[in-house]
Amino acid sequence: MDNCIFCKIANGEIPSATLYEDDDFRVILDLGPASKGHSLILPKTHAANIYKLPDELAAKVMILAKKMATKMTDALGCDGFNLVQNNGEIAGQTVFHFHMHLIPRYQGDNVKLGWTPGTLTDEDKEDILSKLNQ
Ligand code: 5GP
Ligand code: ZN
Repeated sequence: MDNCIFCKIANGEIPSATLYEDDDFRVILDLGPASKGHSLILPKTHAANIYKLPDELAAKVMILAKKMATKMTDALGCDGFNLVQNNGEIAGQTVFHFHMHLIPRYQGDNVKLGWTPGTLTDEDKEDILSKLNQ
């Protein structure tokens, strides 16, 4: 994709603070971090979101996320870790090249990710189960 900033960063056309690189991915520090060490896994080939990501990369990205979370937890001494992955504007996606957020969490940090829990109604449960179990 000619005009995609994450394509350019992932492929090294635009320099970035890189924590890891292999044939498929580059892992970079986020420029607007939620916490110290907040990073992004970027595939080197363009896929706008999870729906477009090839299965092979989808599998590999989770293995890499595990590897990075383990390495970063050891190196940074964080107390927990969030993996976040947004798809679509309504879900908070602002850059339309698939990326996985790696967010180290620290006791007392002020990171806010979350929602107010609702209640699973019988109607919703039946509706969803009937739609998904076909
Ligand atoms: P999204 O909201 O799409 O899930 O996340 C986009 C993320 O990319 C944000 O956390 C934002 O700070 C980060 N970001 C946007 N542009 C750049 C950039 O040019 N370089 C880096 N390193 N991070 C970026
Ligand atoms: Zn791209």
